[in-house]
Amino acid sequence: MPATEPTERTAPVITFENVVKRFGDHTVLDHLNFEVRKGERVTLIGPSGSGKTTILRLVMTLEDLTDGFIYINGEPFTYEMRNGRRVERRPKDVAKVATKIGMVFQQFNLFPNMTVLENIIEAPVHVLGKSKGEAVTRAKELLDLVGLADKVDAHPSRLSGGQQQRVAIARALAMDPEILLLDEVTSALDPELVGEVLGVLRNIAENTDITMLIVTHEMQFAQEVSHRVLMFDQGRIIEDAEPSVMFTNPQEKRTKDFLQAVL
Ligand code: ADP
Repeated sequence: MPATEPTERTAPVITFENVVKRFGDHTVLDHLNFEVRKGERVTLIGPSGSGKTTILRLVMTLEDLTDGFIYINGEPFTYEMRNGRRVERRPKDVAKVATKIGMVFQQFNLFPNMTVLENIIEAPVHVLGKSKGEAVTRAKELLDLVGLADKVDAHPSRLSGGQQQRVAIARALAMDPEILLLDEVTSALDPELVGEVLGVLRNIAENTDITMLIVTHEMQFAQEVSHRVLMFDQGRIIEDAEPSVMFTNPQEKRTKDFLQAVL
């Protein structure tokens, strides 16, 4: 299925509305507002500590919001307003929405005691209730997609970092996510293994309509796959532009300085 170009009229899939996140006294995200539309691939860039990973972890409900709302497909995700009061949604409702969201981490986080196949079918069988046969068929298709069809029965410890990360990508895709969150997925890899993982992600970006929110230091990759790039500094978006503009003609001095340091 060819990827379609998201436009202004495409529905928002992720909406951040006045999102505040504090750890103790430290305000990490300061009234953050942005939208990601269906099929859009948005990359977050900015200095270390500017809050990028926290954004992904909030979308994945690995962190609680301090204030504000996150909407998934227009629905308030973890909180709703009742009689003017903020009420936490039932965990069951949140869990249902969360199955539409997949995340790949810097550290591959595979289950070490399971084979590659078992890693991939675990959630489709136990969370989505797929039959084992159906889950295995899909897992094999996905292993083919990430170039690891011959590793079905291998244990993660037998694989290189790049191979483990490709299994982690297959595992995330096995849940048929609408949204894929990629958190510095090549940062823990030896340099010679980065290319194979980025190659798989490029292929997925080109051939699916999955909405992606990406944190990466690989600026070339960001430029190639993103529809839009958001530059963060101190918990705020300071520039929001298409990659062709962000990487060649940024408007903000802080963006210029950051890109000069990393490119
Ligand atoms: P980035 O991804 O842009 O490098 P992060 O979102 O990882 O930034 O972190 C933003 C800030 O939040 C950092 O100052 C970090 O130390 C702080 N932070 C992140 N997670 C926690 C936590 N669990 N407890 C306390 N501080 C945290």
